[in-house]
Amino acid sequence: MRIGQGYDVHKLVEGRELWLCGVKIDHRLGLLGHSDADVATHALCDALLGALALGDIGKHFPDTDPRYKGISSMKLLLHVMQLVREHRHELGNADITIMAQQPKLAPHIEDMRRVLADTIGTDIANISVKATTTERLGFEGREEGISASAVVLLKENK
Ligand code: MG
Repeated sequence: MRIGQGYDVHKLVEGRELWLCGVKIDHRLGLLGHSDADVATHALCDALLGALALGDIGKHFPDTDPRYKGISSMKLLLHVMQLVREHRHELGNADITIMAQQPKLAPHIEDMRRVLADTIGTDIANISVKATTTERLGFEGREEGISASAVVLLKENK
C-alpha cells in the first residue's frame, strides 16, 4: 500500500463560481484560479500523485498552459487516476477535509462524495468528505480563502 497527502488553498473573490469536489455551490464568492479552482479536488489530486511520488498538480497541469484555463478539475482528477492505474495502483480510500467559514457545506457533502466516487470509479464508501469552519480564525475564518487537505491510501494492482 502507498499513502499520500495533499493540501491546497485558493482565494475567495467576487465574480467567480464556487466549485468544491465537482459540485457547484451557490455563494456570493467563488474561488480564484487558472482552472475552476476546485481546491478540494486539487488537494485530492496532490494526495494521489504524492502517494506514488509523481510530483504535484502544478507539475502535471501548469497554470501557464492555456489548455487548463477554466478546466473542470474533474478532468484533472480523471487524468490523475489514469496515471495511478498506469502505475498499477487503485484507490483504497480517500479522506478530504475542507476548511471554509462560509457557505455551510453540510447539505452538499453527499453530492460531493457521489461526484468524486463516480469520477474515480470507486464505491462511495471509499470517499469521505468533511467540512469545518476555523472558528473565524485565520484566512479561512475571515472568508479570504478556502483550504483543503486530503489523505489517500492506494492499493497495488497485482
Ligand atoms: Mg489549486
